[in-house]
Amino acid sequence: MLTCKEFDDFMVDYLDGNMPVWQKYMCWLHVKMCRECAHFIQQYRKVIKLGRSAFDGPPDGMLPNSVPEDLIKAAIAHRNARTQ
Ligand SMILES: [Zn+2]
Repeated sequence: MLTCKEFDDFMVDYLDGNMPVWQKYMCWLHVKMCRECAHFIQQYRKVIKLGRSAFDGPPDGMLPNSVPEDLIKAAIAHRNARTQ
């Protein structure tokens, strides 16, 4: 099984679907087994969605000007889980 660090390295490609099937499977398996990474990827996807909707061109002053607190918490929890 992948470690969290390895999963982290693959994560962007995993979200893009830009990797061989066996690697995708390894990542998928890691997400199923690791609550930290599952939570992290969930938050990451939300932010990507937010980022994409920002490109749709909201009026000036309507752009989100702060990183969601949940994402910061997830990122910190994820990093802590890896350094334990
Ligand atoms: Zn993990």
